[in-house]
Amino acid sequence: MKIHFLSAECYPAAKTGGLADVVGALPKYLNALGCEVSVFMPKYHMPWFFEQQYVSEYIGNFNLGNEYVSFHVERIDKEKLGFYLYVIDIPGKFDRNGVYADASTGIFFGDEVERNIAFQRAYLDFVNTWTDLPDVIHNHDHHTGLVPFLAGNCPQYQRLKNIPTVFTIHNQAYQGSFDWNRQNLLPRYDSWKSGMMDWQGRINPLASSVKCSWKLTTVSPSYMEELKVKSFGLEWLFNSEAFKSVGILNGIDTVVWNPKTDSYLDHHLKKDIHAFKLHHKKSLLEGTGLDFTQPLMTFIGRFAAEKGADLLPQIMEQSILNGQHINFIILGTGDKGVEYQIKALAARYPNRVIAHIMYNEALSRKIYSGSDFLIMPSRVEPCGLNQMYALRYGTIPVVHNIGGLKDSVFEFDGKTGCGFKFKNLELGEILYATHKAKEAYYSPATFKTLVKNALNMDYSWEKSAKSYYEVYKQVIKDE
Ligand code: ADP
Repeated sequence: MKIHFLSAECYPAAKTGGLADVVGALPKYLNALGCEVSVFMPKYHMPWFFEQQYVSEYIGNFNLGNEYVSFHVERIDKEKLGFYLYVIDIPGKFDRNGVYADASTGIFFGDEVERNIAFQRAYLDFVNTWTDLPDVIHNHDHHTGLVPFLAGNCPQYQRLKNIPTVFTIHNQAYQGSFDWNRQNLLPRYDSWKSGMMDWQGRINPLASSVKCSWKLTTVSPSYMEELKVKSFGLEWLFNSEAFKSVGILNGIDTVVWNPKTDSYLDHHLKKDIHAFKLHHKKSLLEGTGLDFTQPLMTFIGRFAAEKGADLLPQIMEQSILNGQHINFIILGTGDKGVEYQIKALAARYPNRVIAHIMYNEALSRKIYSGSDFLIMPSRVEPCGLNQMYALRYGTIPVVHNIGGLKDSVFEFDGKTGCGFKFKNLELGEILYATHKAKEAYYSPATFKTLVKNALNMDYSWEKSAKSYYEVYKQVIKDE
């Protein structure tokens, strides 16, 4: 089974979040099941790309509206990542230091539409030259959402028309929609089919892929159900396409995320999880005013409304004022107002709060290792990987009971369960959950059971990869 993955991100090449982790891990597990997965992504001007050896595959060009665009496809061999990685170099579009935003200023690029279309067209032009076509094209998120429509309805891609397509939504909040007056960026297509790209009077790549893909998946079963009720105007669409939809919970790469071998850590888990965690907790708190005997609760993630990062300042301050004796470390970047508030809180309570306003993979691993609890007050959580990484490193998630968090964290009842949950995003409920967490921490026998339960949770990709394999088998059968 030859599968093509298309994505804007892939770990370790370029990552801003969970999309990269999934695209960098799932192919390895699918290959183990007998698939042959190739990943296609843009070639960015980011450090990883400069260090690789490439095989040149194809040089092409097309007119993007009035602009002449040339591109170069290069391949990295399978030995490197466990799957073939094709990078598409499009000068003027992707030769930049960030995926969606400038790495130094944090300002989002203004030409997202042109970039995404250029990437998708370059892929289609390239694959159109192959003799041996893929069995399935698997697209990820809106950046690649026009591929099913274009492959199916452009005369120049006639050969690709019958290749089954699968679309996975990692984050539905971003749809990539743009005005119809920019349709000249697209190759010629059967204009009477234009409705398949439209949603509420705009070209909407995410909606188009939901309509045109043979099968639709989301990264957790609960998120799939939530989209039918609340999805920024697409509710009706998700209901009408329910017949071809399935939610598959993400897994984690247990080789890359392994406390026994993690290359980012200077100290690895041997037998005693508590000794491992204490080592990292002490090292995280060294030179700070935070007391390592008190529970340490952390947050890692984007400061975006969907992650509920704006709620963190009040959660932390109220917890401190309530005398919960919980200390906090926050690692993240994003909304400037939230960054400012979190820094201000760390300045006000230097013995209780540390703010790391940055993106730092190595530090994130140390935080997963040294924390007692990880808080996730997400408003929306398609799957969430942080809670799974936390569990793998013996850290207890305290989460809002939605989406993938609902499917992967189970309330601790003193014996079974691996975390604490709040049903509503209300300060009182959240603080009650942090209170329960603190109580468990101060009861050593209970806390040992809890950490043991966390380590026993198994979210490796093996199971979920089999579900994707079934999806592919089904669409190939339908061909
Ligand atoms: P999303 O993709 O919506 O941001 P996920 O939970 O699916 O959320 O994935 C987040 C991933 O990004 C995790 O691997 C997490 O550790 C990582 N991450 C997020 N913010 C940071 C940061 N500031 N520094 C390091 N890693 C981060």
